[in-house]
Amino acid sequence: MRKKIVAGNWKMNLDLEAGKTLVNDILAGMPSLDENRQVVICPPFIHLQQVAQATANTKHVHTGAQNCYTETSGAYTGEVSASMVKSTGAAYVILGHSERREYFNETNEMLAKKTDTALAAGLKVIFCCGEPLAIRDAETQNSYVEQQIKEGIFHLEAQQLENIVIAYEPIWAIGTGRTASSEQAQDMHAHIRSVLAAKYGGQVADNMTILYGGSCKPSNAAELFACPDVDGGLIGGASLQAADFHGIIAAMN
Ligand code: PEP
Repeated sequence: MRKKIVAGNWKMNLDLEAGKTLVNDILAGMPSLDENRQVVICPPFIHLQQVAQATANTKHVHTGAQNCYTETSGAYTGEVSASMVKSTGAAYVILGHSERREYFNETNEMLAKKTDTALAAGLKVIFCCGEPLAIRDAETQNSYVEQQIKEGIFHLEAQQLENIVIAYEPIWAIGTGRTASSEQAQDMHAHIRSVLAAKYGGQVADNMTILYGGSCKPSNAAELFACPDVDGGLIGGASLQAADFHGIIAAMN
């Protein structure tokens, strides 16, 4: 049975003290979770060790970074490697978020390299994909997302996909308050699963966790997560309020 996951992406928010308060609040009110359910908290790098320590003794909660560099070490001022992330106690890294693709010019080719580096360091990857509004309006979103996935992760062996989670995040829904309808989300998730099945076979595709991201909130999470191919969510804004995050996590059960 595939895992269900709710992951919180704090983006570039919260200083060290505020991060400590939030992770403590999240853990204190955590809804009880069924087997095969996970929560992943993805703060900025400065929080990783603190959040990883706070989540270390929990059964279902893990820590993740929001990025890592393509290289393993060296003269890359300002960058953080996958093995450094791993050494904090984090288990996951988000790669290919649309904000990184847009503001930091991350290409599918770079993301394929980052994915390799992250997996080699023993991290699990939350690999993001998703189309801009113009592509959705032109109704070419399926081939657009398919290309991101093919170029980003199709060089991997089937066994490596056990450590990949896909997050479908239509860019027009991120931070805009405009959520994809459950039908739009389901259609794309089913498409992604069929693309995976064509390359890796039905069993691998069935086991893949595919998250939805984009203005997910307590009020719409249950409907989105009820879709057969939506296995949870990647949550931005609503992961910064413990009560909202709890509401979304409860919807995963
Ligand atoms: C995100 O940044 O991954 C995201 C989904 O943001 P929001 O939930 O705020 O739309």
